[in-house]
Amino acid sequence: MKILVTGGAGFIGSHLIDKLLSNGIEVICLDNFNDYYSPERKRKNIAHNLSNKNFTLIKGDITDNALLDTIFNKNKIAKIVHLAARAGVRPSLDDPGLYTKVNILGTLNLLEQARKHAIKTFIFSSSSSVYGSNKKMPFSETDVTENQISPYAITKKSGEMICKFYSETYGVHITCLRFFTVYGPRGRPDMAPYKFTELIAKGCQIEMYGDGSSRRDYTYVSDVVEGILLSLEKSPKYEIINLGNGNPVELKRFISTIEELLGKRANIVKKPMPKGDVLATYADISKAKKILGYNPKVSIEEGLKNLIEWYKS
Ligand code: NAD
Repeated sequence: MKILVTGGAGFIGSHLIDKLLSNGIEVICLDNFNDYYSPERKRKNIAHNLSNKNFTLIKGDITDNALLDTIFNKNKIAKIVHLAARAGVRPSLDDPGLYTKVNILGTLNLLEQARKHAIKTFIFSSSSSVYGSNKKMPFSETDVTENQISPYAITKKSGEMICKFYSETYGVHITCLRFFTVYGPRGRPDMAPYKFTELIAKGCQIEMYGDGSSRRDYTYVSDVVEGILLSLEKSPKYEIINLGNGNPVELKRFISTIEELLGKRANIVKKPMPKGDVLATYADISKAKKILGYNPKVSIEEGLKNLIEWYKS
C-alpha cells in the first residue's frame, strides 16, 4: 500500500512520514519546498529518510495538474494525506490569491485525482481557524463556522466543503481534521512555540499580543500524527473531527513555561492583537475520542521540553 503525503517535508508531514515508514508503509512525499520558511529546514526534516527504499520524494506543486497526472498514473496510491498548504494566518491577509490557489485549487486537484483513480481514503488538514470569532467554548464540530476572520481560514472552510461534495458525490472517504496549534520538534518558525523559544534563548524581545490572557489549545505533534494514523485506519465516509489537546493554555503561562525550561527570563513587549488572530481556541475532542479512539497524551510541559531539547541540539 502506497500513501501519498502532500506537504510531507513540512513540520507535521515529516513526523507523519517517519511514523508511516517505521510501520513499513510505502510513502510518496510531494512537496514544492517553497520559501514561506527556509526550504533548507524542510530538506533537513526528511533527509534521514532519503535512503529508505519505501520512501519516494517528489519535488513539485499540487497546483501542477500535469505532474499530478504523472504521479497518479505511475503509482498505485491507496490513500492520500493532504497536508500541503500555505499555512500562515497573518500572511494570508497580504496574499489571499496565493492562499486561494494553493489551498483551494490544490485541494480540488487532489480530490479530482482521488475520484479518477478511485482512491477511497483521503485526509484533509483543516484548522481550528474555521471557528473564527466564535465565542462558544469549547469548539465543537457541530458549531456554526460562518465567522472566519482570515483568508487562510476561509480556504480551510472551503476545503472542507469541497471534500464533503467529493465524498457525497463520488464516494471518496474523507476525514477533515481540524488541527489546533500543533507544536514540537521541527515546529514551524512562524509559530509562537518555536519563535518564542528562539527569541528567549537568544535574549531578544518577544512580542506578546494582547494582555497575555489569550489561550491556545496547543497540540503536540505526536498526538496529531496519532490522530492522522487513526483516521487512515478507520476511514469514515465523511467526518469533520477536531484534533486538539482539549486543554487550552494562557499565553502568559505558555511564555513562563518556556522561561523555566530555558532558565532565562523573557524580554516581553506588549502589542495589540493583530488582525486575523482569534482570542482563544479550545477543542472539544469528544468526537475524536469516540470515532477514532484518539487520546492525546503529551502535556504542554513535556511537549515544550521536547521542543526545547530539539532546538538546543
Ligand atoms: P508546513 O508549512 O511546515 O508544511 C506544509 C508543507 O506544504 C511545506 O513543506 C510546504 O513546502 C508544502 N507546500 C506548500 N504549498 C505547496 C504546494 N503548492 N505544492 C506542494 N507542496 C506545498 O505546515 P504544517 O504546520 O506542517 O501544516 C501542515 C498542514 O496542517 C497545513 O495544511 C496547515 O494548514 C495545517 N494546519 C497546521 C496547523 C499547525 O498548527 N501547524 C494548524 C492547523 C492546520
